[in-house]
Amino acid sequence: MTTSPDTARYARIAVERGIDRYPEGLLYRIPASLDGVDTVKLGDYVTVPLGRGDSPVQGVVVSIGAEELLDKRIDPSRVKSILEIDRTNDPMPSVVVRLAQWIASYYCAPIGVTIAGITPSAVRKGVGRVQKIAVDLATPPAEAGRLHPKRQAVLDALARRPQAERPVDIDELREECSLGTRAPILALIKSGHLKITQRTSVQAKWRASVVAEARAPEPTADQHKVIESVGEALNKGFSQHLLFGVTGSGKTEVYLRLAARVLAAGQSVLYLVPEISLTPQTGGRIVARLPHDRMAILHSGLTAAQRHEQWVVASQPGPKIIIGARSAVFAPIPDGELGLIIVDEEHDQSYKQDQAPRYHGRDVAIRRAQLCACPIILGSATPSLESWWNAKKRGISQLHQLPNRAPGLTTPRVEIVDFRKETVLRRDRRVHLIGPTLEFALRQGFAAGGQAIILLNRRGYANWIACPDQNCAWMMQCAHCEAGMVVHHDVSDGSTLKFTRCHHCHAEQKVPSRCPRCAKGVTIFGLGTQRVEEELERLFPDLAAQGRIARVDSDSMTQASDFHETLGRFGRGEIRLLLGTQMIAKGLDFPNVQVVGVISADTALNLPDFRASERTFQLVSQVSGRCGRSAQSGRAIIQTFQPDAEPILAAARQDYSGFAQRELEVRERYGLPPAHRLARVIVRHEQRSEAERIAGQIRGAMAILPAAASVIIRDPAPCPIARIADRWRIQIEILADSPARLQQLLAAARTLAILTPGEVIAVDVDPVALL
Ligand code: ADP
Ligand code: ZN
Ligand code: ZN
Repeated sequence: MTTSPDTARYARIAVERGIDRYPEGLLYRIPASLDGVDTVKLGDYVTVPLGRGDSPVQGVVVSIGAEELLDKRIDPSRVKSILEIDRTNDPMPSVVVRLAQWIASYYCAPIGVTIAGITPSAVRKGVGRVQKIAVDLATPPAEAGRLHPKRQAVLDALARRPQAERPVDIDELREECSLGTRAPILALIKSGHLKITQRTSVQAKWRASVVAEARAPEPTADQHKVIESVGEALNKGFSQHLLFGVTGSGKTEVYLRLAARVLAAGQSVLYLVPEISLTPQTGGRIVARLPHDRMAILHSGLTAAQRHEQWVVASQPGPKIIIGARSAVFAPIPDGELGLIIVDEEHDQSYKQDQAPRYHGRDVAIRRAQLCACPIILGSATPSLESWWNAKKRGISQLHQLPNRAPGLTTPRVEIVDFRKETVLRRDRRVHLIGPTLEFALRQGFAAGGQAIILLNRRGYANWIACPDQNCAWMMQCAHCEAGMVVHHDVSDGSTLKFTRCHHCHAEQKVPSRCPRCAKGVTIFGLGTQRVEEELERLFPDLAAQGRIARVDSDSMTQASDFHETLGRFGRGEIRLLLGTQMIAKGLDFPNVQVVGVISADTALNLPDFRASERTFQLVSQVSGRCGRSAQSGRAIIQTFQPDAEPILAAARQDYSGFAQRELEVRERYGLPPAHRLARVIVRHEQRSEAERIAGQIRGAMAILPAAASVIIRDPAPCPIARIADRWRIQIEILADSPARLQQLLAAARTLAILTPGEVIAVDVDPVALL
């Protein structure tokens, strides 16, 4: 196909280093030379010249057109040309390109950063492109011309083969033609004489440890009802479903049955889970029930090459299931093949990405379902208030319920313990983190052969290092952040090393022995998982000696594989007591857990965040739901200094809908999400006055935009953590009664370069964490 020179064609390219002044991507000419070989397509990976030096960089085609792409101010003769198309990478499906464009606009992220952020770097860089690349003669055949003899030999070898023996593996062909490298073959691909048909054989590493048991339980009447009513919606375009099922109600069974239906109908399923619940156990349950050879699994435990391999599997035509954490929402499932999206634990915060592009995986999934015209099912025992609002108030999501636990499970008994009273019971003067009630329950549970899970949502040993003299009131702060240092213990070769670490910038310092102001000996107090571990080892010396107590937090588990291994040992009963941060609060299904303990339900409750109640409710409900997963009874002991706090009481009563109703009333009254939409603009600068000046300028310029009339733009104010890693942080909160109004303002501010997201300015639309 050739294009006459007078109808020049152009493309917009998303380049990672491209600046935000061009939210649609940078403009390039499609040279006739490229068009002649193979038409440039949407989603193609290309190389383009960038900047003064015209250094070649990789980019992705996000739109193609003729003169209409040209801005009137641009001189067509100065538009640079695309250098080449990278045919070793499959083009991005057009749905994914459109998703990226939506993210770039909705979440105020430069398109280049967005495209780069949603493609695993292993894929972009071609790491471990070890999968079989098969090649065949291009159709229609490219003009022969005069070729280098080596290349001609390759073409001849292929032409000699009968149709049935093509395509040929690239390395087989290389040997057949006695070539030292693949280069001549790759050159033929580039020149359009050969085409690639990629094939892979995939073995994800952890599939070896899959549990064998794959017997499907008979669905209960409740499960059946949900499967049927969501099943009705399959193949009928977009629809949104919220599955509200208490912990242990068998939501996974519902997903599996629906997924099997979609696969049987020849379509694909996208199944999203929080990173942390992608354990061998959950993964294994899914793998054991669905066809292995049609499955891609994307999780952080994969090597770059494995990740690339899984990505390629997802791009193959035909029915398949793609399981993965947040970023799997961008899996390159071919256009038109997606039949269902599942988002498990949809309330989970880890679906939100905390760096640009700051997208919410659940909301992107909803967008993808709309673009692909397929149903989406969001599931949780503690739905986010956003999803509850969509189902209850806006009616844009159908609500399905599983009010009871699956057969064979018992309902956990949740007890709230007033920690102020508990400490009084102790005779000694030591501060104890495990009160008598919890200690007794643990002893009983172990005596009955059970296992236990203990939650404390704070890492380290203790989080206060202070002067005991109230008149002095010195407290150890990070030198780079407006935040306290946390004491950590590092046990290596028998001796304990104590140091302090900042949880925001990771700076470390020695533990001071004296107050720098008045030289009194410092006191260390507060909570941390390491201190709980120390206390548990004192209470249960035998278990500790046998190595049957394990701590799970991001200090002890530096790799996903550590976490997977520890859970494996817990599942086999080698570990009796699992202690950790919220990593262990969700999704785990171990029938022998008889006791769950929460060291302090107050850690989330006291955060300066309007979602503090919601978080506390979720955490207490979710962790309590880890016990009673068999015929044995389960006990959850919740220690707190605020035994009358509403979210804790509601979680103990397992009253989600009552809690949600009251909480939504509060949010509505104060104009907070989900009743209103929130965006945060955060200005970060080494100089506080400069951060304040820039924020003031943005606030002022935005306030006079016409779109500002229908939103509330708050005055700039320091973020709850006013400085992180030496940069001061000033925020402007914007609230609107609809997403459209918020979008209008943000888009106008961006177009006028009032808001240029980058190093200094961060924009967070629908933020989930407000620190
Ligand atoms: P949820 O995801 O709702 O917390 P799970 O899907 O983990 O619940 O199910 C909890 C347990 O109940 C699992 O061990 C599962 O195998 C079992 N289960 C689910 N549905 C049934 C059923 N219909 N009959 C018997 N057991 C079931
Ligand atoms: Zn710091
Ligand atoms: Zn002092």
